[in-house]
Amino acid sequence: MSLLQLTGVRTNYGPIEALRGVDIHVNQGEIVTLIGANGAGKSTLLMTICGQPKPASGTILFDGKVINDLPPHETAKLGIAQVPEGRRIFPRMTVFENLQLGATLGNPAHFDEDAAYCLDLFPILAKRRDQRAGTLSGGEQQMLAISRALMSRPRLLLLDEPSLGLAPLIIRLIFEVIADLNKTRGMTILLVEQNAYHALKLAHRAYVLAQGQVVLEGGGAELLANPEVRAAYLEGG
Ligand code: ATP
Repeated sequence: MSLLQLTGVRTNYGPIEALRGVDIHVNQGEIVTLIGANGAGKSTLLMTICGQPKPASGTILFDGKVINDLPPHETAKLGIAQVPEGRRIFPRMTVFENLQLGATLGNPAHFDEDAAYCLDLFPILAKRRDQRAGTLSGGEQQMLAISRALMSRPRLLLLDEPSLGLAPLIIRLIFEVIADLNKTRGMTILLVEQNAYHALKLAHRAYVLAQGQVVLEGGGAELLANPEVRAAYLEGG
């Protein structure tokens, strides 16, 4: 059984049909990548999984349970953590306080261990521990956003364009950490990216979304080699 399974999911914003019957699944321990052009519905898909907006129809199963009607705080409690596009860290709080907020859903007994794990994963955050998060660089804020999500020990990590706006070296580091989280911690990850090359390279499986529908699916390496995908998403990559 898949950890996450979407069947025929449709999501609308008033008259706009952002998702038009999406079928995807993510198995335990997988990295699944979702690529697609601007406006394809990628962010809407992640937000729908989290519970806002709600799907108009279709089924979202998490660990065998229908979660269509659950609000974001309930899906978070079940173990779904999202790192949203634009990171949304708390800029006036320190790095460490952001981690503390991320841990509110977790077991307090795990706090020290998990904070140490994150600060080890991103040593630059250890250096910036008591600095206000708003003063961090874009890359550091992304590292903090990922760390904050990890503090709740999620069962499923949703990442919305983690490489957006970052320098190539930082992008490489972020993707290395994503691959490492999966390998060493067995973290199940659904990754949305415009940076198709890196995102397909580390994916076990991937989907291409266009105008609210899945138009292609396959292994990460398979899609990376697919001429249509290369033409549409990998020019210059
Ligand atoms: P991007 O990479 O630009 O973020 P995306 O693939 O994540 O694109 P979505 O942001 O999910 O795409 O948008 C899907 C469609 O829904 C687009 O047509 C978009 O204009 C529309 N849309 C997204 N958010 C809203 C909203 N809050 N209200 C109305 N329409 C929206």
